[in-house]
Amino acid sequence: MAAKKDPWQTPAMRQYKTFKDRHTDCVLFFRMGDFYELFGDDAELAARTLGITLTQRSAGLPMAGVPQHSVDGYLRRMIEAGHRVAVCDQIEDPKDVKGVVERAVTRIITPGTLVEESLLADGEANTLGAIAFLEDGDNPGTRVALAVVEVSTGVFTILETSAAEVPDELASRSVRELIVAETATGDPPPRAQAVSASLGVALTTRPAWEFRFDEAMRILCDHYGVSSLEGFGLADDDLAIPAAGAIIRYLRAAHAMDGGAASDTEKARERFREHVGERSLAHLAPPKRENDSKHLQLDAQALRSLEIERTIKPTGQDEADGSLSSLFSSRSSRCVTPMGRRLVREWLRRPLADIDAIGARHSCIRTLVGDRVLGEELAEVLSRVQDVPRIVARVALNRASPRDVVALGRSLVVIDVLAECLEGAPAFARVWEELISCREALSPIAARIERECVDDPPSHLREGGLIRDGIDAELDEARRLQRDAGEWLAEYQAQLVEQHDLPSLKVGYNKVFGYYIELPVAQARRAPDVFTRKQTLKNAERYITPELKSFEDKVLTAGERAVTREQALFSAMCVAIREQASTAGVFANAVAEIDVLRCFADRAVLRGWVEPEFVDKPGVLDIKEGRHPVLEELLGSEFVANDIELGDENGSLALITGPNMAGKSTYIRQVALITLLAHAGSFVPCQSARLGLCDRIFTRIGADDALHRGQSTFMVEMTETARVLHGCTELSLVILDEIGRGTSTLDGLSLAWAIAERLAGIGDQTAPRPRTLFATHYHELTSLSDRHPELVRNLHVQVREFRDEIVFLHRVASGAATASFGVQVARLAGVPGNVIERARELLESLRVSHAEVDHQHVPEPKTSATSQMGLFTEFIEHPVVGELRELKIESMSPLQAFDELRRLTDRARKATSSEESWHERE
Ligand code: ADP
Repeated sequence: MAAKKDPWQTPAMRQYKTFKDRHTDCVLFFRMGDFYELFGDDAELAARTLGITLTQRSAGLPMAGVPQHSVDGYLRRMIEAGHRVAVCDQIEDPKDVKGVVERAVTRIITPGTLVEESLLADGEANTLGAIAFLEDGDNPGTRVALAVVEVSTGVFTILETSAAEVPDELASRSVRELIVAETATGDPPPRAQAVSASLGVALTTRPAWEFRFDEAMRILCDHYGVSSLEGFGLADDDLAIPAAGAIIRYLRAAHAMDGGAASDTEKARERFREHVGERSLAHLAPPKRENDSKHLQLDAQALRSLEIERTIKPTGQDEADGSLSSLFSSRSSRCVTPMGRRLVREWLRRPLADIDAIGARHSCIRTLVGDRVLGEELAEVLSRVQDVPRIVARVALNRASPRDVVALGRSLVVIDVLAECLEGAPAFARVWEELISCREALSPIAARIERECVDDPPSHLREGGLIRDGIDAELDEARRLQRDAGEWLAEYQAQLVEQHDLPSLKVGYNKVFGYYIELPVAQARRAPDVFTRKQTLKNAERYITPELKSFEDKVLTAGERAVTREQALFSAMCVAIREQASTAGVFANAVAEIDVLRCFADRAVLRGWVEPEFVDKPGVLDIKEGRHPVLEELLGSEFVANDIELGDENGSLALITGPNMAGKSTYIRQVALITLLAHAGSFVPCQSARLGLCDRIFTRIGADDALHRGQSTFMVEMTETARVLHGCTELSLVILDEIGRGTSTLDGLSLAWAIAERLAGIGDQTAPRPRTLFATHYHELTSLSDRHPELVRNLHVQVREFRDEIVFLHRVASGAATASFGVQVARLAGVPGNVIERARELLESLRVSHAEVDHQHVPEPKTSATSQMGLFTEFIEHPVVGELRELKIESMSPLQAFDELRRLTDRARKATSSEESWHERE
């Protein structure tokens, strides 16, 4: 029997293998005719991920394919599923080739390198990060340099930070993919793996030499066409250079800017260049160092638990719904440009911590709140601006469509109207100057696009149709030939008939012989010398003339020439745009900023948000009638507004008690969100807000511990608490919800107690005292305020008992809550009646035993000798109950009994409406 042929040994499959070997970490989409095919393991993976059919190219060679025209959707799904894709195209026309066609990898698609419109979400940043561990000082590897690029908009940032802060830095910048140098074993560093796993960031390893200082320096200087980076404010030994260089090299590779053809011949390279055209990263701004002291820091935990960009518990709809940023893309007040939608998220992720900068934003909003006509005008003008930075990025990388360019032109046109709208508004002076500064460079581009391009451009240039008539003589001529061929022929025929007096002469066309002049046999004798015989028919002779021949050449190629010419004109236009890429970036930033400020103003007007007042006094937090920005949207006037007052003589720690479901979490989050919004430059949902600058918001909010990093709930809780205690300063805001819940009651209580003491500065005068909101169900903690009223204040969320049920008032008042109402809440939640009854019984007996414990074992608190801890004192019986027990009802008249009952109910009501607890009253 003949040996079975190895299916991998055909020329096409050998070529496939070459690419696959070069891109082992990618799924390879291999163009064959009208399909992209996948083979081997890739085919199986794609079949699973994309739900496409798995077939066999030949026995033993799995294959799956997707049609070329719908490849984008499949690519997006592969990327979303966490894969990297290398796209391998045919770079020559199979018609021109015998044997295997030359191919090349023209793009490596990874989560952090996207510029394609079809692969990007318009309101989300899509960022690539590179990290280099620094070997400085005594603890190598504890400091890192980070470079971060949004390639679709060209923003490039560098910074140094501690290794521990990396997850927060990545989260606050929306990094999707992180590149690191591979270790000696070829793996990524374990720390990077841990970060990537906990944040869901794709991790990419690159050879270590790409992170070498001299290599990085070389590629950066080369890229920006400079001999030193000092002009960009970077020293020549700047520690972030390796990470910045590595990122540029990676982007060049991802966009196949350094070749990628199968065979390494000059011809193949040329074909490759012809196929992909001129790609550049011209739109990439020079790396800029960020000054973090100017930002309010929100770590990954705070971003998550405050639901800035996503909700914690998906509502079944988009996770972004119900997040803080969703307010600014809602129908009632939305940023009208994609740049605005991205910037608003950035401002919320990275609010400011600089009073002047915050004040500048507030005064813009004040202007717009006061001048609604201006606000509406701006909205109208801005809604005509498309995604300028992303279009410019595609132009630079040679992936722009005719529609992109026309959209760019229409966007740039607004520059004048926009500047006019803002002229003379002092708050907008800086932005206005920026607009004016770009006008000179961008207006000619806008005018050129408008002049040269049709209003309704095609989506691609394969058949032309972008450039208007009358712009280019060569193009016009080609088009005229195509359009007017019939007319020309008729004219030519008439001219020949007359000139040579040959009334029966005809000019015609046939597919095989092309254009011809035909004379009946009878007149053939009279054919002039310029006629060259071409074909003899039964009754006629056919001729060609040099003039007709040249017409034929022109007409037959006119279509092709028109398209080629249009492509050349389009490229020239792209070159002009690329030259102004950085100016277009300035324009886009100005637009984004105006859009966000305008949107903030809309929201302020819509919901009556007010301008917060910043005071130069750390620790002040004074909010009157504060509302939760997202919940007020859902509940409208049913939302109960609440105050908070910390700092000055009010202490720095508020302890919030109240039953579950009362609104404690809502309240503490609302305070954090108002603080955050104020620092982001927005107005805030309340009647008034006075606050001292905040450097960082810490959150520890329970219940959502989806057990990341494989730690127990309690371990996660304590790790996060440790971070708060180590990291907070006098300027921070800390919100803690249900600390100590994950362990036994006494353990949890003791920990919560000690943590509250530490944050309030009890027993340690030197410890920083951040503004703290501490929501707890450990009622016992409230005695801290009795002993240290100057440091701790008690707040509780009010509820009323009504016929053995509880009614949540959601109103926060001074003083501690009276009881914990757990059993009633269980009833509300639908726990069966007999279980509720049994729980009541048990509660009674446990109260008795706890009361005994109280008397015998509660230790003196170490930090204060003055008062007892007072654990479990809430369980003392209400005096009315004692009186009821004593009542001799059998010896009373009905009237007496009624009077007595009324007296007792009055007393009981008075006790519950008073803010004091029962035992305090008595
Ligand atoms: P807790 O943390 O005390 O268990 P939550 O803050 O989770 O309670 O609030 C429970 C529910 O009560 C929320 O889902 C919300 O619908 C409602 N709620 C909370 N605060 C308010 C308020 N101020 N006004 C109106 N409804 C509120």
